[in-house]
Amino acid sequence: MRVGWIGLGDMGYPMAGHVARKLETLVWNRTSAVAERHAQEHGTRAVDLEDVGRVDVLVTCLPTSTEVAELADRVEDHLAEGTTWIDCTSGDPTVTRQLDRRLRALGVGLVDAPVSGMVDGAVRGSLTVIAGGTPEDLERVRSVLQTFADRIVHVGPTGSGHLVKALNNAAFAGHLLVASELVRALERGGADLEAALAAINASSGRSHVTERFLGASIYTDTPAPGFRIGMLTKDVRLAAGLGRSRLLSELAQLYETVVDAAGWDADAQAAFTALGELTSRGEPS
Ligand code: NDP
Repeated sequence: MRVGWIGLGDMGYPMAGHVARKLETLVWNRTSAVAERHAQEHGTRAVDLEDVGRVDVLVTCLPTSTEVAELADRVEDHLAEGTTWIDCTSGDPTVTRQLDRRLRALGVGLVDAPVSGMVDGAVRGSLTVIAGGTPEDLERVRSVLQTFADRIVHVGPTGSGHLVKALNNAAFAGHLLVASELVRALERGGADLEAALAAINASSGRSHVTERFLGASIYTDTPAPGFRIGMLTKDVRLAAGLGRSRLLSELAQLYETVVDAAGWDADAQAAFTALGELTSRGEPS
């Protein structure tokens, strides 16, 4: 099986490296020097955009569905009938379903396969894939996904993977907001923060944020790489549109204010500080 890969960013670069260990892999990246480096490091082949689609399975791992749709415009004339496209972008289910209709007309299947597990998980090859698509298309690409994921969850038809991923990230953003409030209230109340978190983590108020994220990404000198507040915020905004929920819309608005204050690229620590400062405004000191 021959695989083509588009998008060698923080996530795509190590993920494509895992694919190349098992399968012949062609790569294309907007900044071509990155593709050349990948070829040297992982034994892939850096090719032109029109050649990266001449494969059995094509993978995209791009920031948003906007870039995926742009790339589809540029590669669809070069896709062979019978190709299956995996989109690992954390994308927009509506755009994904439109792309699916376009590709099906060409005899190309689409599996939306956003991932969770952050950059560390991509490097280790231990990501979770949240897959949407037909069972047949998913089976066709399972061996590709297994090279970088140790868990593949099929959540429904095409677009469902992107739906679940957006809602998952909105839940994470909510937990992060709650943890930020919690930490400030604990500090203000004079509790020992570490001991207080140990108590919460043995009780019903715990979350992934209190159990793992605060220690791995906030209260540490070596934060886990890959977090960017802008990337999380686009998922919260997506979830707000999909969930048609006032609470999620307010969450998205709050996170957009954090992006305005801290910058799109702000890491977890800068974003957590900005989140705390914003939500504490107007409070008595
Ligand atoms: P990066 O910003 O690190 O990489 C983005 C990639 O897309 C790069 O290869 C970049 O190319 C390419 N790209 C950007 N714009 C365009 C464009 N207009 N045309 C063509 N190529 C383009 O993103 P990540 O790898 O971190 O994230 C990828 C996806 O994975 C996102 O949807 C993100 O939400 C999701 N994700 C990220 C996680 C993380 O921890 N970072 C965790 C889980 C999911 P170039 O090299 O030229 O800039």
